[in-house]
Amino acid sequence: MAIATINPATGELLKTFEPLNDAEIAQKLDLAQQAFEKYQKISFQERSVWMQKAADILEQEKADFAKIMTLEMGKPLKAAIAEVEKCAQVCRYYAEHAAEFLADVTVKTDASHSFVKYQPLGIILAVMPWNFPFWQVFRFVAPALMAGNVGLLKHASNVPQCALAIEEIIHKAGFPTGVFQTLLIGAAKVADLMSDDRVKAATLTGSEPAGASLAAASGKQIKKTVLELGGSDPFIVLESADLEAAVATATTARMLNNGQSCIAAKRFIVVETIADKFEKLLLEKFQALKIGDPMQAETDLGPLATPDIIKDLDQQVQAGVKNGAKVLTGGHALSDRPGNYYPPTILTDISPDNPVAQEEFFGPVAMLFRVPDIDAAIRIANATPFGLGASAWTKNSEERDRLIEEIEAGSVFINGMVKSDPRLPFGGIKRSGYGRELSIQGIHEFVNVKTVWVK
Ligand code: NAP
Repeated sequence: MAIATINPATGELLKTFEPLNDAEIAQKLDLAQQAFEKYQKISFQERSVWMQKAADILEQEKADFAKIMTLEMGKPLKAAIAEVEKCAQVCRYYAEHAAEFLADVTVKTDASHSFVKYQPLGIILAVMPWNFPFWQVFRFVAPALMAGNVGLLKHASNVPQCALAIEEIIHKAGFPTGVFQTLLIGAAKVADLMSDDRVKAATLTGSEPAGASLAAASGKQIKKTVLELGGSDPFIVLESADLEAAVATATTARMLNNGQSCIAAKRFIVVETIADKFEKLLLEKFQALKIGDPMQAETDLGPLATPDIIKDLDQQVQAGVKNGAKVLTGGHALSDRPGNYYPPTILTDISPDNPVAQEEFFGPVAMLFRVPDIDAAIRIANATPFGLGASAWTKNSEERDRLIEEIEAGSVFINGMVKSDPRLPFGGIKRSGYGRELSIQGIHEFVNVKTVWVK
């Protein structure tokens, strides 16, 4: 894939970038290693001053950064601005809490003094996706750099200007040269990087094939990885739910980021007694969404990020229909305009053996399932290879407790939308990946947990 900015709203190629050659990659690795030698000894207090400064820059220049995101991957500008604000929050969160999260922990044993000590590992590689081009990177950068690691970013090939802007922010914030660098490289170079002794671990957010490929390359080198992969999150609505609130949240949760979010609600599982009403209200909400130029403030749904995504999504929808699903609204790419526009789409009548029931729709397509009761709802919710997040709606406390207990996912949100929050761990089980980002768990992923025993 060429490293280039192509405006998804128009299809226009705006800028191409020459990928780094092997000598340039080697230089960046040397620089990162040299930076680590000194950076690991710098105090939390000093690191946190730079991290707070990064947050200041994000807040001060959020409109400019947001425009770059919208230009490169098409998310509505208002969502891009909110994303930059969230990046500032995660910087401040780790600037304020890293010292406490990584403080020595005394453990009473037969020693005169024994404790657990956390130490940085060195160079960590981050392979990141285009869908939240700032947020995904900052939720890596903030804990990794506060822990004393140094970072290399291989960003998705369609968001090079975002990748370079992030490097510039870290530099301007005052972090020493080499502590964080963007590598403009293709995916084929990732395995080579993992085989360099100086690269100690990697994190990848993206598709299952990319995750499996990185895990295989890292496995050969016995290096740790964190993988945040796909999801087909259930959104369960039971009879006692506040239906209006559930439908409003369902619409936001499916359409967020033009439908291209790993934690978007993708399968709406509704009990039969309220299913007609839910379906009618959801249809109204979907049809009321304003599709258009993502730079305009009134736009709810912008273009998908690349022509490939729209092609794949359309093929999935057609495969679903061929296997018996019905299209309630949408169902075909919009051919009346340039750019990668796909309308809000609802699929119903999806039988359990329809292959799409097991798949992730990475775009504005909702699958609607009707179930007789909570048992069937939980069974369908768990009947996928994924296990990222789940949202469930009920006012009944027994049902709530069962949902929390029995849903197979990295997170369960009751009467709310699945979202990431710097204070809460984020990640999945099953084919959605392993490891956690954010919170105290996130900063503990890339450190040596050293046991110290002294007599
Ligand atoms: P993708 O194609 O896997 O790309 C993600 C990153 O991986 C890009 O930087 C890409 O580089 C790189 N990559 C691709 N193939 C690779 C390989 N064989 N080895 C090493 N790196 C490789 O995914 P995407 O289409 O951008 O994102 C969509 C997927 O990401 C969805 O499944 C979504 O659910 C998932 N996602 C998960 C989370 C989460 O937190 N769990 C968050 C967001 C997205 P190039 O661009 O150069 O190909």
